[in-house]
Amino acid sequence: MSSQHVLVLNCGSSSLKFAIIDNSTGDEVLSGLAERLAEQSPQVKYKYQGNKQSITLNSGDAHQVAIETLVGLIKQLSLDTHLVAVGHRVVHGGERFTHSVIIDDQVLQAIQETASLAPLHNPANLLGIKAAQTAFSTLPQVAVFDTAFHQSMDQVAYLYALPYALYRDHGVRRYGFHGTSHAYVSAKAIEKLGLNNKPSKIITAHLGNGCSVAAIKDGKSVDTSMGLTPLEGLVMGTRSGDIDPGLFSFLVNQLNYSTQQIDTLLNKQSGLLGISELSNDCRTIEEAAAEHHPQAQLALDIFCYRLAKQIASFLVPLEGLDALVFTGGIGENSDVIRTKVVKHLSFLGFEIDSDANLAARFGQSGKITKSSNSACALVIPTNEEWMIANDAAKLAKEVN
Ligand code: AMP
Repeated sequence: MSSQHVLVLNCGSSSLKFAIIDNSTGDEVLSGLAERLAEQSPQVKYKYQGNKQSITLNSGDAHQVAIETLVGLIKQLSLDTHLVAVGHRVVHGGERFTHSVIIDDQVLQAIQETASLAPLHNPANLLGIKAAQTAFSTLPQVAVFDTAFHQSMDQVAYLYALPYALYRDHGVRRYGFHGTSHAYVSAKAIEKLGLNNKPSKIITAHLGNGCSVAAIKDGKSVDTSMGLTPLEGLVMGTRSGDIDPGLFSFLVNQLNYSTQQIDTLLNKQSGLLGISELSNDCRTIEEAAAEHHPQAQLALDIFCYRLAKQIASFLVPLEGLDALVFTGGIGENSDVIRTKVVKHLSFLGFEIDSDANLAARFGQSGKITKSSNSACALVIPTNEEWMIANDAAKLAKEVN
């Protein structure tokens, strides 16, 4: 069978992450990032056959130009011949999308309608979709939603204790995000543990710049830490995670904050950055903490305490646990964070295997807890691009 390649696009408000994935192997044939779109000196950086290169765009050039440049590059490298679909990461699918779909006019409209729930993300995703439809008019375009995997949650898990009309009339509820990653690593864990087609209880911790935990029973998400927006739940790089909602009126009434300022405070100035007053980057914080920087140590301690507390709370919906999975930039690379979290959970029978935990730092994924009588924690690298490519190739095959 000839190889099937999928172009995967993740379009942000001023950036466009792209990759061409060989769907049979998961290999990245081409990968890159267009950044500073619609701003000064936008640039397309890419990696092909191990070489990193860049193309400078004109100031003000936006998504359409970036995608046209990408098309030119793909043609120049003769990578267009194997393309079977374009897969788009779409952040919010609301209650409408429980799985990936081929994009048609109705889907476009539904993504547009859901933009009120994700005003920063969905409009940017739409820009990418429209530009790709123009540039690759013969290829099926597929939307893969960050929220879809969590649509299996029960009302008890997804409803807030607010007036019900806010849910009924405005869709205010927990949706959850990082669904593609939670789905991918939980499926890998189930496979690794030999639990295919058997009952399984997995907790996945996706820890990157954004962080979320999911409780996954028999392969289905039953609860997750992010909510209506990706702000709820864990401490993240720059996001606060859970706070007392009473903070809003305090900030407004006592400190004269505007909604815009509150939004910036909670999304961009809080989390690891806010506590450490140093950085949102976990590596910088770990280095500073190792040199006894008190606020860096505190940021790590709060991050791990809150994470462990959230993980333990998911034993309620799962009524047990087969494995805890760490993934994402921090989850895959930080032996420090994993050690602290597992230590908090030692009362559940977790015992870290220090050698295996350290080896995971150097790319060796797998079990990081002791084999005998110990609860199981695993490191499994996520691969959202491959999940998107898989879904896109599968749906493209159905329409052809
Ligand atoms: P992501 O959003 O998944 O790309 O993850 C980004 C986060 O992973 C940042 O906070 C990085 O500091 C963190 N990260 C990447 N490599 C390491 C590492 N070796 N040790 C600790 N944190 C890391």
